[in-house]
Amino acid sequence: MLRKFLTCFSLLIILAATSTAFAKPAEITGINAFDLDKETVRIEISYRGGKLDSSSVSTNLNLGILNVELHNTLPGRVSRVSGTQIKAGARNFIDKILTNETQPKLTKVQIQFKSFLEGDVQVSFEPSNRSAHKADRIIIDVKMTEIKDEPIEFDGADRVIVLDPGHGGSDAGAIGPSGVTEKYVALEVSLKARELLTASGYQVVMTRTTDVDVAAPGVPDSTELQARVDKAPPNAALFISVHCNAFSNGKANGMETYYAPTAVKGARLARLLNEELERLGGLSNRGVKAARFYVMTHSQCPASLIELGFITNPREEQLLASDDYQQKLAQAITNAVNRYFNQGGFD
Ligand SMILES: [Zn+2]
Repeated sequence: MLRKFLTCFSLLIILAATSTAFAKPAEITGINAFDLDKETVRIEISYRGGKLDSSSVSTNLNLGILNVELHNTLPGRVSRVSGTQIKAGARNFIDKILTNETQPKLTKVQIQFKSFLEGDVQVSFEPSNRSAHKADRIIIDVKMTEIKDEPIEFDGADRVIVLDPGHGGSDAGAIGPSGVTEKYVALEVSLKARELLTASGYQVVMTRTTDVDVAAPGVPDSTELQARVDKAPPNAALFISVHCNAFSNGKANGMETYYAPTAVKGARLARLLNEELERLGGLSNRGVKAARFYVMTHSQCPASLIELGFITNPREEQLLASDDYQQKLAQAITNAVNRYFNQGGFD
């Protein structure tokens, strides 16, 4: 859980819910991606049973990740969409398409491009065409401009990884229904990751190794978070902050990873962490997200914050508390760090 962000998040849900509460929701039936020309990818989202217009669709493209929010669409349907396809040409540009429902009547689609790009996003609507066997569609055209990512250069001696187990001491973080605390899970996973990373030849610095406040109990959040950032030595190569998610509804589930909005290398790290966590298979993937979290925006090296799962979800709480799953999470973090330095692509 991230302090100060839950309140804003809840307000957004209420606003989104009231604006679309009265229209009949549409059911998403398929997603197709194909290349329109050498620099434009088209994403077509088919739907039926409701009316969608420009107020129903919001898009955000940042560092190769396009997030699409579809308001007043049926939750649950899109995760079972059978017609999601990335066609031959678009496979050169698109790595994967993720869909998930995070709130009633709000479907989120994330398109992860293979390279870091910015670009122009145009949204339009096409009515159904029976003779062409086409459903009602939302058309999203992305005109791409590639961003150059500088090569990652480190010699062996300089690979210092900072692990930041969230919360600690007076701050338990989120607490699960059976009492498992976020600060405990974050520390256990980080300690296990330290062992694996050290065995792989990295030097690991931890912001805390026991159940303590890093600055002091009761200080303002910014003081506590800055104390964590300050633990990173000047030659730190990566900063990884480890957290668990929380929500008032115990059904909320899945993992997600974060990067600071303009941080190309942070985005690469967040993508790799997300892929490795997805590979574990235990939890749904809520995607890779840009956010201005303190430890990421103030870190001097590429940084990512990971939400391992929802500690407020009874099933995920049990997973997060288990020694076996913690070990798997630690291995996923280690794999992502290894791939980062091997400059592995997204696959
Ligand atoms: Zn947290």
